[in-house]
Amino acid sequence: MTSHDTGGWLDAVLVDARDARWCTRPYCTTCGCLEFRRAFWSAAAHQVGVRVTGQQSACHPRDLLEGFSAGEHEATVRALVAGLRHLLPEWRGTDALRTIIIDLHPPLITHGVLIDLATELSGTPASEELARMEAHDQSVRVERARREAYESPEAAEERKRVMRTDKARAHSLRQSQTLKRNTERLELLAALARLSVVERLSRFATDSAFNLDCVSPNLIPEQEGDLVDLETPTAVALIERIGRRKGEWGRLRRMVEQRLKAESESRSSEVHE
Ligand SMILES: [Zn+2]
Repeated sequence: MTSHDTGGWLDAVLVDARDARWCTRPYCTTCGCLEFRRAFWSAAAHQVGVRVTGQQSACHPRDLLEGFSAGEHEATVRALVAGLRHLLPEWRGTDALRTIIIDLHPPLITHGVLIDLATELSGTPASEELARMEAHDQSVRVERARREAYESPEAAEERKRVMRTDKARAHSLRQSQTLKRNTERLELLAALARLSVVERLSRFATDSAFNLDCVSPNLIPEQEGDLVDLETPTAVALIERIGRRKGEWGRLRRMVEQRLKAESESRSSEVHE
């Protein structure tokens, strides 16, 4: 290892890694950052007097640690944590720092060593990195829990239940709307039936909100005598309203047209007399 005037032994490893352009990318799936990880674990072991043979230093970092006794293992883990504690601020936010923390964290689960990393690193550049990583882990856990809850059979069953309830509600709403429309139509027809013929014709002619197609045929006057009291403006409006409708409406329109024609003929003969 190169000697350095400032910083601790771990700074020296990081400088070497940078100079040698070793990969330090967290969770690198191509090389697993093997060279870099071997280097800092070997250096940590060296700090606590654990000898790493040439053969050991060439193996996977995980196997390197497994070759140690339990005591050597724990001492090496603690040495690496101490190295992090003394790391210079210039390594803040680097991949290398993240990769070291990933190898340690969480110490109890990863290495069986009872260390609270956050407390050990408190107030150091490494602790900021650790906090960021823990926050990220936490959000991943929350998201996973949310997804698992969403995908649980209970949740799926509940969503189906809600969907069924919504469908049933929509169906019964449609039914009650249909019922309401039918009731309104029956009430309207009953009201029309109560009107005199002339009042009814006037309603047909003048109420533009009123749908002529809802009227049952028996309410459409069909005798010429029914039109006796019909006033000319109402008759004109009624023809307009009936338009091109056929059947009973067509017959009524023709009757009204004849009536108007007869009226105008009698008027013009009056003028000529
Ligand atoms: Zn890599």
